[in-house]
Amino acid sequence: MASSKELIQLCETFGAHNYHPLPVVLARGEGIWVYDVEGKKYLDFLSSYSAVNQGHCHPRLVKVMREQAGKLTLTSRAFHNDQLGPFLKELCELCGYEMALPMNSGAEAVETAIKAVRRHGYTFKKIPADQAEIIVCQENFHGRTTTIVGFSTEEAYRAGFGPFTPGFKIIPFGDIKALEKAISKNTAAFLVEPIQGEAGVVVPPEGYLAQAARVCKKSNVLLVTDEIQVGFGRTGRMFCGEHENVKPDAMILGKAMAGGFYPVSAVVASKELLGVFDPGSHGSTFGGNPLAAALAREAMRIIVEERLPERAAELGHWFMEELRGLKSPHVAEVRGKGLLIGVRLKAELGGARPFCERLQREGLLCKETHRDVIRFAPPLVIAKADLEWALERIAKILK
Ligand SMILES: *Cc1c(COP(=O)(O)O)cnc(C)c1O
Repeated sequence: MASSKELIQLCETFGAHNYHPLPVVLARGEGIWVYDVEGKKYLDFLSSYSAVNQGHCHPRLVKVMREQAGKLTLTSRAFHNDQLGPFLKELCELCGYEMALPMNSGAEAVETAIKAVRRHGYTFKKIPADQAEIIVCQENFHGRTTTIVGFSTEEAYRAGFGPFTPGFKIIPFGDIKALEKAISKNTAAFLVEPIQGEAGVVVPPEGYLAQAARVCKKSNVLLVTDEIQVGFGRTGRMFCGEHENVKPDAMILGKAMAGGFYPVSAVVASKELLGVFDPGSHGSTFGGNPLAAALAREAMRIIVEERLPERAAELGHWFMEELRGLKSPHVAEVRGKGLLIGVRLKAELGGARPFCERLQREGLLCKETHRDVIRFAPPLVIAKADLEWALERIAKILK
C-alpha cells in the first residue's frame, strides 16, 4: 500500500491546490477515532467541520447506507421516492417548521434561501423588480458559490472571482444598531450565522439573535439563520437559535444532517416562504434522493436518541472551563458554545498552524481557522475520559 507521503504527492500533482490540509492521510474511522494509512490513531477534534457530530462510520448509518444502496439510490425529482416524504415530515417535526426544501451541499441550501427570500420580497412586500436587498454580516461564511463569495468580506475567498451578484448589504456582526440602520423598504432578509464558525468561532453579544429577530419582525424583514455548522446539537441545543428562544423565518441546514455519509442540506421555513417555489423555479438532480433521505432520517434519529445536544452542552461547558483553567501564556481567549470551541492564540505567535501540527504529532487532529484560532469540535459522541485525554495533550503544547 502507498505511504502517506506518496498519497499526499498524488494530491499535490493531480489535485487543484484549493486546500492546505495537515499532512495526514486517513484511511479508516470509528466513532471519535480516525486512523492514517500507517495505522497511527488520532482523536478527531474537527469532525469534518461538524459534519460528523454522530461520530465516524456510525454503525446505524452504515446499516442504512448498505440497505438503501441495495434498494434505490436516485430517482431524480421527476418521480417520487418512498424515502423523501417521511424525511421531509421528520425534518419539519424536528425543526418545528411547516416545509422543507432538500438540496445537497450547504452552499446550495444558502442559494436556495436567497432565492426564496427574494421571491418572497417581490411577492408579499412588493419590492420593485430586481431591487431586493439581503443584509449579511462581515466575516460571514456561507459557502463558495460566486454569489455567496460575492458578499464575503474575506479577500482570499473573493479575489479574482468577480463580477459578483448585487443586492447584498454588509454590516458588522453582533451590532444591532447597524442592522436597524441598514434596513430599507427593499430589504427582503437578514442572513446570519448564530455563531460565526469559519471566522474563528465568534460568539455575538448575548441577546443579539433575539434582538435581531425583534428588529426583523418589526421591520417586516425575514430572519434567516445559517445553522449549517452550528445546528444539529453542536452548540448544546438542537439548533443554536434555541439558546435565545429564537425561531427564525427560515433555517439553513447541512453538514451533520446525514452524519458525514452523504451531502444533505435543506432550507426549512413556513409554507408562505417556501411556497414561493413553483415547478420549474428551482431544483437539484440529487436533492432529496432516497439514499440521502434514508441516511438523514437515521442520522437525525441518532442525534435525538443519543442526546447529542445535551452531551454537547454538558461536556462543552466543562471542557471550556478546563481550557480556560490551563492559563496558557499563549492563549488570548477561549470562546464558544457547547462543543464548538475556539482557542484564540496571541497574535505575536504568528498563527495557529504550528500548534495544530504539534497536536497532530500528539494524536489530536485540529485545524486552524482565521490564522490565530484553533477550533475544537470533536464528534458529539465523545466521552469525558477522551476529552480528558485530549486536554492533557492540549495542555502540553500550550504550556
Ligand atoms: C460549511 C458551511 C457552509 C457551506 O457548506 P458546504 O456544504 O461546504 O457548501 C455554509 N455555511 C456555514 C456556516 C458553514 O459552516
